[in-house]
Amino acid sequence: TNSSQIVTRIAPSPTGIMHIGTARTALFNWLYARGRGGKFLLRIEDTDRARSTPEATEAILEGMRWLGLDWDGEAVSQFARVPRHAEVAHEMLAKGHAYKCFASQDEIEAFREAARAEGRSTLYLSPWRDADPASHPDAPFVIRLRAPRDGETVIEDAVQGRVIFRNDQLDDMVLLRSDGTPTYMLAVVVDDHDMGVTHAIRGDDHLNNAARQAQIYRAMGWAEPVWAHIPLIHGEDGKKLSKRNGATGVMEYAEMGIPAAAMRNYLARLGWSHGDDELFTDAQAIEWFDLPGIGRAPARLDMKKLENVAG
Ligand code: GLU
Repeated sequence: TNSSQIVTRIAPSPTGIMHIGTARTALFNWLYARGRGGKFLLRIEDTDRARSTPEATEAILEGMRWLGLDWDGEAVSQFARVPRHAEVAHEMLAKGHAYKCFASQDEIEAFREAARAEGRSTLYLSPWRDADPASHPDAPFVIRLRAPRDGETVIEDAVQGRVIFRNDQLDDMVLLRSDGTPTYMLAVVVDDHDMGVTHAIRGDDHLNNAARQAQIYRAMGWAEPVWAHIPLIHGEDGKKLSKRNGATGVMEYAEMGIPAAAMRNYLARLGWSHGDDELFTDAQAIEWFDLPGIGRAPARLDMKKLENVAG
């Protein structure tokens, strides 16, 4: 493999319909990879067994196929990789980048309640961080990251610019739960690393997660992807998109009779622009798409524009 090859991905959680925001994120990642001889991967984030369904996975695949967004290789199931996530958590433990925390949920909840009542910070700092392993009880534990306590965690984001997080406001996140299952933060980092992802282009609802994920990358000495957090899509009224102010499911547009090519053109322009160009071919979009063209303000659904694009 070529070590400088661009690798992007879409990593949807299969918990419902294929949302238009997911479709737009998929399109951006696809355009970015296709314009640079790179790879575009699909990972189904199905580790949450209670919320993930096969129907929702099928809905994502259906939406991707309808939109014509072909991915490279097989779709990866995150759940299938749980043993690998646990392996990395234990590697971090062995290297001292993580520690066993024996505090129970009740204990942590009691701490938070007391802190709230007294108007103190509810940020939980585990007393087990600096405990002597000889004092460890024979009891269930979680594995927590030994996060930096001082200074800042800085994200250089291709859309948002430099984003600074104070380390004293970030707790030692849980990496592995007491039942041996990974948290979302750990799973995403391990998978992106193992899959060779070079660019994490995704909704800006994940910007705070980027700080936590960067801490895991840095602890492991792994190269971070280029971060690009895209503003979310809003409804026609400018408010957060919901069923009341716009069609949220990508297949709703298929059912309205919108051609897939028009939908690609329309989605590309939801948050990205290339001068004043409104109508373009796939080839042009692939050639033109770049991260600096992504705006910082939320994109807004506009059915008139969509009808215009659909001709
Ligand atoms: N699974 C996450 C979601 O559905 C996306 C994770 C990511 O893109 O890093 O929102």
